[in-house]
Amino acid sequence: MIPFNNLRPIHEAYANEIREAVERVLHSGWFILGPEVEAFEHNLATYLGANAAVGVANGTDAIELALRAAGIGQGDEVVTVSHTAVATAAAIERAGGTVRFADIDPVTYCISPAAAEAAITPRTKAIVAVHLYGHPADMTALVRICERHGLVLVEDCAQALGARWQGQPVGTFGHLAAFSFYPTKNLGACGDAGAVVTNDTSLAERVRRLRCYGQARRDEHVERGINSRLDEIQAAILSVKMQHLTVEAENRRALVGHYREHLSGVTLPTEHPDAEHAYHLYVIRHPRRDELRRHLDECGIGTLIHYPIPIHRQPAFTDLGYEAGSLPVTEAAAKEIVSLPLYWGLSESDIRRIAEAVALLEAKVPLG
Ligand SMILES: *Cc1c(COP(=O)(O)O)cnc(C)c1O
Repeated sequence: MIPFNNLRPIHEAYANEIREAVERVLHSGWFILGPEVEAFEHNLATYLGANAAVGVANGTDAIELALRAAGIGQGDEVVTVSHTAVATAAAIERAGGTVRFADIDPVTYCISPAAAEAAITPRTKAIVAVHLYGHPADMTALVRICERHGLVLVEDCAQALGARWQGQPVGTFGHLAAFSFYPTKNLGACGDAGAVVTNDTSLAERVRRLRCYGQARRDEHVERGINSRLDEIQAAILSVKMQHLTVEAENRRALVGHYREHLSGVTLPTEHPDAEHAYHLYVIRHPRRDELRRHLDECGIGTLIHYPIPIHRQPAFTDLGYEAGSLPVTEAAAKEIVSLPLYWGLSESDIRRIAEAVALLEAKVPLG
């Protein structure tokens, strides 16, 4: 069996360091928003070359708080993609915004800048660009569009820590950026965690208030906020795991190289010439995707689909009014994509086995 994901090998490799970090926090008797959170915020900001990082409870809250800090609220339209985790749209709505979907680029699976610009109305206040699968969206075009229309640009970096656009880390292009440290992400906590990153210190200050009931200082609440605090144990674990990020990124790229070498008969993910892909997910494309998945499952290979039903076609979001066929590139991708295993502990021989299983499908039922 090759499962789709397995978080055990990486955590066994760091078990001693993690245990030490957890014990340090237990011994300190300080559990929420303390020195470990501050140290992790500093580590993250330094890694990205950003002015500030603010630890929050999860990635969804990070998007919501980034939008709220930038002044997005009731009735403001926010343009984003339907081809993303449902969290992106949920967070926009939690901030009070109205979600407007733009179609994606068929090659990078990220927001099409032309479609984003076409979706702008007089009520549009922001664009949330998702660096999906770890591939950066076209930040050159998106920064220009936001400047031209006076919009706030928020980056959803939940899948893209470590990705770069023209050599610059994603998360430093927009006014604010949101990160998730859900356990399966490229930097994963042992629980939920997230962060907002920004170069603007006053926006950072506002996120700090919003994550703690809108509190400017003790017992003084200058605006309505929420409880979205990061805890000391997760922050301490994240600081441990950050030290290994570069080595893990190299491992991901090596595995991707093995896929490129061995896989055939499917559309492989590509890397735009201006992009450095963080390879959170390895997503291939095949016209008989469901058959391929069934076949791989029979071969003992786990796969997932990110995402089989675009948000605009989810039952919960039908009231947004997007008919089937309204986002054709998104809908076509959703029918053909499949994510293959990509994680620490996977070997070249595992990947060769996966590639052989993929090739076997073609042998079983020759195409067209
Ligand atoms: C994981 C994810 C989120 C949400 O992060 P959580 O920490 O699960 O709240 C948002 N956007 C994208 C693209 C994600 O992959």
